[in-house]
Amino acid sequence: MTEKFAFYLKDNDFEIGFSNRYFDFEKFFSGKKFSILKQIHSDIVHRVETPFSDKEGDGLISDKKELYLIIKTADCYPVIFYNKKGGFIGAVHAGWRGTYKNIIKSFKEKALEYASLKTVLNDTEVIVGPGICGNCYEVKDDVVKLFKEAGFEDNIFKEEKGKIFLDVRKAINFTLAKEGFLPENIKNINLCTFEDPTLYSYRKDKTKKRLYNFIKKINNKKILD
Ligand SMILES: [Zn+2]
Repeated sequence: MTEKFAFYLKDNDFEIGFSNRYFDFEKFFSGKKFSILKQIHSDIVHRVETPFSDKEGDGLISDKKELYLIIKTADCYPVIFYNKKGGFIGAVHAGWRGTYKNIIKSFKEKALEYASLKTVLNDTEVIVGPGICGNCYEVKDDVVKLFKEAGFEDNIFKEEKGKIFLDVRKAINFTLAKEGFLPENIKNINLCTFEDPTLYSYRKDKTKKRLYNFIKKINNKKILD
């Protein structure tokens, strides 16, 4: 099982997976309930009550059990959220566009429908999955301009031999901190989709194939505060 994942975790409460290229979508999700999006690099986050696969957007949030929330990636970053006290789980697709448009903030606002601000910020664990790293992701001036206008720190960029590189992971972590998520609750899976041959990279291969990143809630346990 674990050889099909860059990261996999299952405990009494949650099942979380970040797949690699050996993962078989049909086989794994056959007979299981899930929601998956038509991803459009937006800041749209959907509440999930029942399975669907027809909606446009880039974030999912739910408090239902036995229902997988799935995000597809190939260089963009999957961000998984789980909150034991509020009982919600979430999955977000954050490339440079979603990050710059602040899908993390949209997710936080949606999470307030499930729990108080204190619970959302203090008790939400976050995992930022594999994506293209700051040494590999070359961008142009227009992208730099957009991020600077949106108030991001200069250190998300690096200049080398006249080229500019963007560290989307750093930008996501900057946003998570800015929105109030606690650094000790944030875990980064520091794998680069461009460099790691077991992962898919759109920038490298122009591939249509995608990595599947998901979370499922197992228990309906909700700790009240
Ligand atoms: Zn890299």
